[in-house]
Amino acid sequence: MRLDTYTCSTCGEGFSVEEDKQPIACPFCESKCFEFSHTIIGSKMERIEEFLQRLDMMSGTGNGIGQATVKKIRDFAEKEGFIQRK
Ligand SMILES: [Zn+2]
Repeated sequence: MRLDTYTCSTCGEGFSVEEDKQPIACPFCESKCFEFSHTIIGSKMERIEEFLQRLDMMSGTGNGIGQATVKKIRDFAEKEGFIQRK
């Protein structure tokens, strides 16, 4: 997941919103005066977990991916150290 980080010009606090979503106001002081700071990209593990969850959701919906396949991929990813076993 990508997060855009902003810095509030009024209170100086930093806060993040999902990429491409414009913050309305600073969550700390509700000021509408803030500046874009930088984008954070979620860790590789988070990205893989996200992908597996997506696969889970897609499985069994007629796209050729079954739940057993998703489980195999997850087991493989865990074994190879791409994600941590829950
Ligand atoms: Zn603020």
